[in-house]
Amino acid sequence: MIDYRSDTVTRPTPGMLAFMQSAPVGDDVFGEDPSINSLERITAAKFGMEAGLFCPSGTMTNQLAIKTHTQAGDEVICDELSHIYQYEGGGIAFNAGCSVKLLHGDRGRVTAEQVLSGIHPEDVHKPISRLVSLENTSNRGGGACYNFNDFEAIKKITDQHGLALHLDGARIFNAIVHNNEASIEYGKIFDSISICLSKGLGAPVGSVLVGSNEFIKKARRWRKVFGGGMRQAGYLAAAGIYALEHQVERLADDHKNAKILSEALSKMEFVSSILGVETNIVIATIGGKYTAASFAAALKEKGILAIAMTPTQVRFVFHLDITESDLARTIDIIKTL
Ligand SMILES: *Cc1c(COP(=O)(O)O)cnc(C)c1O
Repeated sequence: MIDYRSDTVTRPTPGMLAFMQSAPVGDDVFGEDPSINSLERITAAKFGMEAGLFCPSGTMTNQLAIKTHTQAGDEVICDELSHIYQYEGGGIAFNAGCSVKLLHGDRGRVTAEQVLSGIHPEDVHKPISRLVSLENTSNRGGGACYNFNDFEAIKKITDQHGLALHLDGARIFNAIVHNNEASIEYGKIFDSISICLSKGLGAPVGSVLVGSNEFIKKARRWRKVFGGGMRQAGYLAAAGIYALEHQVERLADDHKNAKILSEALSKMEFVSSILGVETNIVIATIGGKYTAASFAAALKEKGILAIAMTPTQVRFVFHLDITESDLARTIDIIKTL
């Protein structure tokens, strides 16, 4: 099977496994796991932040950030396609007791004007606007990236209104590679960033939350409350260190391959449109003889897995376990459908 369902399906490479096996470990709840301590330090430094916190999932790093920035009764401002709103089980309400102000952005990206319009003035009737959360790249937006200028404009607004600014950077390295950005610049904009190691970077498990010392100290406490305090998890952190050292630049290959697939798909009569490919995600709108589900089923019969995201959209995600020959085979098969 050639598996395009998600960039979470990757398996550790032999080099990664060897590095994991030799990792020094200790009890991380006591702060004594050297591998976790280095991963947290390395990741924070890359983003110009003071501290990091290793967690089992990106859902946990996002939810911890929301919980740490807010109080029950506050409101979180985000785009309607955001992972924190769409795919985290209602955690904003459950974990943080917050309501959500949804913005209607462009492929998951919002403007400073939209953020401003989402902030409530001081009014006893209204929830207190407390946190703005952005997503880069946008998953439901088909891997769309922000321009860094837009972050700066949004940061001005959140500063003026005393709001915290969080980034769901599950695929932040795809954006950094695509736009040739310096990761350290992100620390000047955001109060916290969630970074997934288990997506395109290819680690089996894990995400890191980065922010100020004070913020991470509070989030570490909430991580224990959430049940996310792990012990000798340095074996997993080592996979993250290896991924950051060896598996970032290659994301450019995924982006190139995603474009090639998108061009091939666009020639098929049953594909009515495709979201412009920026990074490693291709979302095609299916019409004519297939629905999204029947197209995904036809692909599956030929050994290709993709997700029918909506009744009309199929998603393909590129990652380090998809080779150029897998891509060539995929295109040959699609031409027969
Ligand atoms: C995958 C993902 C997450 C985190 O997901 P986990 O499966 O909990 O690690 C968060 N945000 C976005 C945009 C994602 O794609």
